[in-house]
Amino acid sequence: MSRITPVADTQNEYRKLPSVDVFLRRAEVAALLVEFGLEQVADALRGLLDESRAAIQKGEGAPDQTLLMAWLTDRLQQSSQPSLRGIINATGVIIHTNLGRAPLSTAARRAIQSAATGYNNLEYDIDAGERGSRHTHARELLRQLTGAEDALVVNNNAGAVFLVLSALCAGKEVIISRGELVEIGGGFRIPDVLRQSGAKLVEVGTTNRTHPRDFADAIRGETGALMRVHASNFQQIGFVTKPSLAELVQIAQKVEWPGPPPVIDDLGSGTLLDTAPFGLSPEPTVQQSIAAGADIVTFSGDKLLGGPQAGLVVGKAELIDKIRRHPLTRALRVDKLTLAGMEATLQAYRRGRAVAEIPVWQMIAANPESLRARAESWRDRLAGAGLTAEVIPGQSTVGGGSLPGETLPTYLLALSIPHPDASAARLRQAQLPVIGRIQQERLLFDPRTVLPEQEEALIAAIIAEAGQV
Ligand SMILES: *Cc1c(COP(=O)(O)O)cnc(C)c1O
Repeated sequence: MSRITPVADTQNEYRKLPSVDVFLRRAEVAALLVEFGLEQVADALRGLLDESRAAIQKGEGAPDQTLLMAWLTDRLQQSSQPSLRGIINATGVIIHTNLGRAPLSTAARRAIQSAATGYNNLEYDIDAGERGSRHTHARELLRQLTGAEDALVVNNNAGAVFLVLSALCAGKEVIISRGELVEIGGGFRIPDVLRQSGAKLVEVGTTNRTHPRDFADAIRGETGALMRVHASNFQQIGFVTKPSLAELVQIAQKVEWPGPPPVIDDLGSGTLLDTAPFGLSPEPTVQQSIAAGADIVTFSGDKLLGGPQAGLVVGKAELIDKIRRHPLTRALRVDKLTLAGMEATLQAYRRGRAVAEIPVWQMIAANPESLRARAESWRDRLAGAGLTAEVIPGQSTVGGGSLPGETLPTYLLALSIPHPDASAARLRQAQLPVIGRIQQERLLFDPRTVLPEQEEALIAAIIAEAGQV
């Protein structure tokens, strides 16, 4: 609220405030009543009148009716903004966990809309005309794409890891290298998850070096699994070694009594496509893990897969079956919207169209020259509005706990502006908030992560902001 000039006659100022009933009958309030409903409008008005009375008590004047009307409209509009809303990601971080991770493909969005719109066969077997299982839906596609015998989709990968350990390893020992007792982020720490699941952690090796024999020596009758956790968000360099997945499988196979323990591979991001052709270091693929003999592989739906939030569990049929029957599966189950989006996303891989259709892969594959052209077109649009910006080379990252330290060459729109922090803060207040980067007193915008349909809004926001300075 802006300040009103102090006045002496407090009683008179109180009298200038309208009653709620009278104000609500004003002609210009009618539209607000239609848009927000009587209760919300009356509540907001009462709040404003209370605040006005408090201000009068401090010696300020009463707002006139026009001002009150403007405040009321403002307050109602602000309070009706959804808390979760769209933003423009100009950071150049493709899988940004704070910004909703993977944007979905057109096909996935359509599938979700269609699943949301009517009834569906979520748990209904159309051929048999009887109850079916939601777990059938993405199963066949995941089997085909990964080479695994069976598959299960749950709420997220953290849930998937917890479920797998609970179902297969409760009361047993799980052997992990000390170099893989990692924290993923958001408080997800492998040792804690293991404990929570009822499994007993057996650490082997050292932070930097773990040998196959460290695993072999730790195996006992109580061993529930050998586990590998992908170092999603950090790199170890230097005097470093650890057994390959194939070596772990070999060690497990040698256990005659009570039989080979399962080898569990938490891939984290997990990808179905090789990252190397895009100039990135190779991220292990799900197919490779299955081919190397992992019994269970877990990975995220919304990291490099580029689909909705989900945890995917693929592997040996017998184990997946055991996991599916565990009570936690019910607690971690996914809804129809996730399944619809997941199936459509996996279909794109099946058709060989992932890079063409899935936004995460489109962004990874975007070539620097096309990014330069987009940044230059933004620069020219700003020039048309009398603003000077530059196009400079820079780096984008994949993010989202995959490919740590890896970058993709890009071109950035760079805006030199007096107080970049304050400008960035105001850009976050735009109709469609803009999140960019600040570097050396410049605001930077990376076209790689800006969806083409958001370009107009981005340029308008920058012009509005820079025009004010
Ligand atoms: C990201 C990640 C997880 C958690 O996956 P969510 O889908 O975010 O729950 C677990 N393990 C590893 C190695 C990861 O990188």
